[in-house]
Amino acid sequence: MTQSPTPPTTTLPTPMTVALKGCCPRCGEGRLFKGFLSLAPRCEACGLDYSFIDTADGPAFFVMSFVGIVVVGLALWVEFTYTPPIWLHLVMWFGLTAILSLALVRPLKALMVSLQFQNKAEQGRLDTDRDREPR
Ligand SMILES: [Zn+2]
Repeated sequence: MTQSPTPPTTTLPTPMTVALKGCCPRCGEGRLFKGFLSLAPRCEACGLDYSFIDTADGPAFFVMSFVGIVVVGLALWVEFTYTPPIWLHLVMWFGLTAILSLALVRPLKALMVSLQFQNKAEQGRLDTDRDREPR
């Protein structure tokens, strides 16, 4: 019978914990953000350097997809059920879009940071070592 690998000495916070608390993906104590969406340079609790983080437009894509489906679905349902005037549609759906987008973008960015940290995801690189012996 083979032995299972040694469990890590520390447990990482779950990605959902990091998303909801906006905390460090390694220790779960320090803050991840210094502003609404700008990241702190490092964790003040464990010192993890956040320079590896590159979520690019991933959080915006998921916010746009989720909010778009919800708002368009609700707008269609309200139109076919109640047939309100167009100005009421504009007020309701622009407002809901802004509120949902602002509420979701920060947790989704923290979630993507946590997943990037735990899966060690990084930019792809070409192997340009030409002096290596042929296989
Ligand atoms: Zn930390």
